[in-house]
Amino acid sequence: MRKWFFLILILILTSALPVAHAQELYHKSGPLLHTFVEVKAYGDNSTRAIIDETFREMARVNNLLNNYDPASEISAINTAAGGKAVHISPETYVALCDAKKYADFSNGAFDFTVGPLIALWGFNREQPELSGSDPDKKRIAQVCRMVDYRALQMEKKPSGPTARLKRTGMRIDTGAFGKGVSADRAILYLQEKGIQSALVAAGGTISAIGLKPDAKPWQIGIRHPRNLSSFLTIIALRDQSVSTSGDYEKFYYKAGKRRTHIIDPRTGMPVSTVQSVTVIAPCGSASDALSTALFVLGPDDGLKIIEKKEGFEALIVTASGEVVYSSGWPQKKITY
Ligand code: AMP
Ligand code: MG
Repeated sequence: MRKWFFLILILILTSALPVAHAQELYHKSGPLLHTFVEVKAYGDNSTRAIIDETFREMARVNNLLNNYDPASEISAINTAAGGKAVHISPETYVALCDAKKYADFSNGAFDFTVGPLIALWGFNREQPELSGSDPDKKRIAQVCRMVDYRALQMEKKPSGPTARLKRTGMRIDTGAFGKGVSADRAILYLQEKGIQSALVAAGGTISAIGLKPDAKPWQIGIRHPRNLSSFLTIIALRDQSVSTSGDYEKFYYKAGKRRTHIIDPRTGMPVSTVQSVTVIAPCGSASDALSTALFVLGPDDGLKIIEKKEGFEALIVTASGEVVYSSGWPQKKITY
């Protein structure tokens, strides 16, 4: 009888313990946000549906922010530039407030109103104009005057948030931070659904939640900017994001000169002093915006601002192939 009593007690106790479901890896990838998106998550068999919904969430955020989609909220602001304020969703409002913060922090090196310069250099088209010479200096200077993130007026009215660009012809371009915002939304959605270990890759931005079930962090390869099939280094990521801006992502040669898609808003010229910049940050919108900012600022000014920010690290490959990084970068020796 005593033996049976203990057996029943053990059964009652063990059935009261939470059941540890097997954590399996689920994975989905495909084209989204004009780039390649990948979501990996560990969980039970409900994870597949959660990942599908994460993709839909990222597409939804993209539909708000994509300046190439005439139906997006950003396009509505662009079309109304110089005219009336436009009502926007709280999500777009927060994304633009954050973007303003990074623009301030980088002294305007990251400037999301760079749209007119992107158009001038032809990076808004599938095929940029390759014949002839660069845009003339006067025209570059003129277009530069249309670029100033401080001219984006944002208000929280009783009827909801609004945004307005002060001058006709001004254009917001979300290319440098939109994927980071989408990755942040994906991470939040996965967490809301109880996922404790996941990786979201949206173009050059990768965000990770937690550790893998074997208690190891997610490993991320940082691409070599001139040998794209190999890695410069590998980093571990845990509840962080990493973004890389590279001169190899979108570029063309005109009159023998390599012209890349990241433009210095102060000079109106494509940046030619850096091959790639990688930034580690607590979230994707920060790493994305600041990787572009540091691309413009270059190693001296770029590392100076990163050192000021707790939880941020950066690695820069200069035009000559020198690799420099911030004081807390995880590796100390990286060969190019
Ligand atoms: P990323 O790959 O994140 O560095 O973003 C590059 C994209 O951001 C470009 O293709 C442009 O659409 C846009 N862009 C270029 N220069 C700047 C800049 N100085 N500030 C903000 N966005 C920029
Ligand atoms: Mg960026």
